[in-house]
Amino acid sequence: MKLNIAVLPGDGVGPEVTREAVRVLRAVSDFCGYDFRFEEAPIGGGASVEFGQPFPPHTRERCLNSSAVLLGAVGGPQFDHLTGERRPEAGLLDLRHTLGCFANLRPAIAFPSIAACSPLRPERLTGANLMIVRELLGGLYFGEPRAIDQAGHQAFNTMRYTEHEIERVARVAFKLAERRTKKLISVDKANVLETSRYWRQVVTRVAKEFPEVALEHALVDSFAMNVITWPARYDVVLTENLFGDILSDETAVIAGSLGMLPSASIGGRVDLYEPIHGSAPDIAGKGIANPIGAIGSVAMLLRHTAKLHAEADSVDFAIEAVLKAGFRTADLLPAEQRAKAVSTEEMGRRIAEATIEALNSRMAYHAV
Ligand code: NAD
Repeated sequence: MKLNIAVLPGDGVGPEVTREAVRVLRAVSDFCGYDFRFEEAPIGGGASVEFGQPFPPHTRERCLNSSAVLLGAVGGPQFDHLTGERRPEAGLLDLRHTLGCFANLRPAIAFPSIAACSPLRPERLTGANLMIVRELLGGLYFGEPRAIDQAGHQAFNTMRYTEHEIERVARVAFKLAERRTKKLISVDKANVLETSRYWRQVVTRVAKEFPEVALEHALVDSFAMNVITWPARYDVVLTENLFGDILSDETAVIAGSLGMLPSASIGGRVDLYEPIHGSAPDIAGKGIANPIGAIGSVAMLLRHTAKLHAEADSVDFAIEAVLKAGFRTADLLPAEQRAKAVSTEEMGRRIAEATIEALNSRMAYHAV
C-alpha cells in the first residue's frame, strides 16, 4: 500500500497537532510495511506572509498530486492585517475548492471515559454518536457577489445553492445513514430562507432513492437547542455550509473539547482531512494542544481514502484506550487538575504505541 500524503501544518497549533497525526500514520506504515510518504507544504497566514498568498501554487500542485491532504489549521490574530485574498481563511476556502471535496463529515462521539469533560449531564451523553454531513463548497462561503462596499456603507454575501450541489451532498449523507442507524435529519431555515426551502425540496426528493432511511427535517434554531439537549436522539445530520460550521463546533460539547473532533472532506479529486478546530492562538506554541482531532482525522483517512479498515479501527481503538487509561491533555481537565495534563507530544506518542498494540492483538487473534 502506497500513499503520498500532503501535510499542510498551517498556523498556530496546526503544526503541533499534525506532527502527532503523522507520528501515528508513520507507526501504522512501519508496522504494516506500507509505503506512506509525507510531503509538507505551506498554507494559511504564514504562507501568505512568506509567499504573498495563503495557498501558494506549489502547495496547490503538491495537494493535487497527493493521495490525500492532511491539514492542521489556519489563521490567528497576527494575520489580522491581511485582507481579501491574502487572508488565511481565503487559502482554506481555495484549498477546499481546488480539491473539490463537497461533503465534510464531522463525527462527534461521547466517549464514556471522558464524559466528565462535558458540561452536559452524563445521562444525556449516553450513546451520543453523531455524524454531521456539512455541505462544503456552496452557500454563503462561496456565493457571489460578495463585498464590503465602503462607499455605499454596506456589506453583502450571497447564499445560493444549486440542485446539483444539494443532491450530491444529500446522497453522501443518505448512504452513510443506510450503513448506520438509518436515520437522517436535514437541518435548514426553511421558514425564512428560499435557499432552505429549495434545500428541503431537493433532499425530500433524494430521500426516495433511499427508502430504508427515515428522513426528518428541522429548523436550525430549534435543532441547535435539541442537539445539545438530547444528542443521542440524532445520528446523521445533513446541513448546509454555514449551519454545519456552527453546529459542529457546538457538538464539541458532546465530545468534551473542540480538540477532540476530526473531519474528512470527500467527493472531489483528492480527500482532505483536518481537525475541526482552528489555530487556537491562545495555546499555540505551548505544546498543550489536544492532538486527538488530528489523529482521529488520520483514522478517517485510513478508512475512507486508503480503505485500510482494520488500521483505522486500531487508531480509533487506541484513542479510546489511552483516554480510558486516564491520560488527558489540559483541555480535558478542570483548571485545578491541569498540572496532571500530558503534552501534545505525549498524547500522540501514547496513541501511536496503543495503535501498534491494537494491530498486534488483531494479528495474534487472526493467527489463532
Ligand atoms: P479555535 O478553534 O482556534 O479555538 C477555540 C477554543 O478552542 C480556544 O480556546 C482554543 O484554545 C480551543 N482549542 C482549539 N483547538 C484545540 C486543541 N486542539 N486542543 C485544545 N484546545 C483547543 O477557534 P477561534 O479561537 O475562534 O479561532 C482562532 C483562529 O482559527 C481564527 O483565525 C480562525 O479564523 C481560525 N480558524 C481556522 C479553522 C481552520 O483552519 N479550519 C477553523 C476555525 C477557526
